[in-house]
Amino acid sequence: MVTDLPELPCRELVELVTDYLEDRLSPIDRARFEAHLTECEACRTYLEQFRETIRVLGRLPEESLSPEAREALLTAFRGWSRL
Ligand SMILES: [Zn+2]
Repeated sequence: MVTDLPELPCRELVELVTDYLEDRLSPIDRARFEAHLTECEACRTYLEQFRETIRVLGRLPEESLSPEAREALLTAFRGWSRL
């Protein structure tokens, strides 16, 4: 169980997703990340769409996304989920 760990907000999960996919998270952050995924369908969807992005691009998106770029990405993801 990871209930003694502080809750990982969705916004923080978005920040960590690149490190997660590159297996660069600390064990604690990884546990928090995966615990959040089990409880949050929106973030599961986000992770799936992020993986799809990588598959399409053939690589991870730019490491240091600006807040504006991240917002645009999130908006795009929301659009995709309606397709
Ligand atoms: Zn979430």
